[in-house]
Amino acid sequence: ETSGLELKNNKSNKDFQKSEQQVNGSSTKILSTKRGVCKQAPPPLIQFCRSRYLCVTDITQQLWCEQQLQYRMMGVEPGLTDMQEIEAGDVPLSVKDKEEVKKGKSLHYARELETHDVVDVKISSNTDKWALNILNLLVAMRGFFSGIAKAREVPIFGDLGTGDMLFGIIDELHFDEKTYSLHLLELKTRKSTRLPGVAQAKQNALQVQIYKRLWDNLVKGNMSADFFLKKLCLEDSADLPLSDEIIKHMDQLPMSTVSLRNLFSLLLSTAQSLVCIGSMSIEYVHQDTHDLIGHVEVKEEEDWMWQTVLHSLEFWHGQRECEGVEVEEAWKCGMCEYGNICEWRRKKISSHIQK
Ligand code: SF4
Repeated sequence: ETSGLELKNNKSNKDFQKSEQQVNGSSTKILSTKRGVCKQAPPPLIQFCRSRYLCVTDITQQLWCEQQLQYRMMGVEPGLTDMQEIEAGDVPLSVKDKEEVKKGKSLHYARELETHDVVDVKISSNTDKWALNILNLLVAMRGFFSGIAKAREVPIFGDLGTGDMLFGIIDELHFDEKTYSLHLLELKTRKSTRLPGVAQAKQNALQVQIYKRLWDNLVKGNMSADFFLKKLCLEDSADLPLSDEIIKHMDQLPMSTVSLRNLFSLLLSTAQSLVCIGSMSIEYVHQDTHDLIGHVEVKEEEDWMWQTVLHSLEFWHGQRECEGVEVEEAWKCGMCEYGNICEWRRKKISSHIQK
């Protein structure tokens, strides 16, 4: 069974981030002092062109090491010497991981093609980009009503309740018509044939719990069109007709006026006829053989998820300094590409070792 089409945009996020950077360039805080005017670094949310939304993986990478994520976002050259071998899949995206990431992506893509065809769509604006995300989410939701049990690569976005916009892609959703229940499955590919250690398992568990919360909030109607449009700076174009390139893929939808606001309203009304995610699991697959390594059920840990997300957001909003790993997790530094140049490691970890 297929859930129809997945519409892929023809631009990378970077294309849009460039224009966002131009917008955000003006938001650097200017401080007046007695000696004149000095510039203060903007909070990471603005500095790294993410003022409109954060990816769920930004938050999960922080859980591994926020300092490492910051170095990568700043484009700091890694100090590659003296590194221990990295076990792919145990460290978030790095130079050394690229080959493994490619293999993981190709397995995801192969699985995606099992459920639907992928069509390239030419988009030329941020409005189109978000219309496409809504369309793909709608295709998945509407598929469940027409007897299609499985949807893959489902965009999800919204607010966890903090006023920040988050975006992610759910690997798989399984809808059981008989029990009217929904299961979320995240696919992780690994170079190793073993299940991940505690640190990476925590990252993955956080990821699926955030996805669940975003989905559930949509189903419960906990997101307004005003929030969505304002957060993404799309208010001016919200009521204008979408581009012909988008409209030609909307022929199945019951809509008279084809604008982003209408599309979002349709998404909300469709979501509210669905159910919250009832269960979550992560499937670990070997990246070369595609053999199943293991299947792990994830339980909701609401307090932990909240504390982790709130702590992460403090960094993005510039409410605290960037943090590296704690002494108990100093083993991560031994496999980190910034191990040789990391100031956090030098100050915090080394001083502890000398004690
Ligand atoms: Fe984080 Fe350690 Fe790498 Fe520094 S060396 S970025 S503290 S993992």
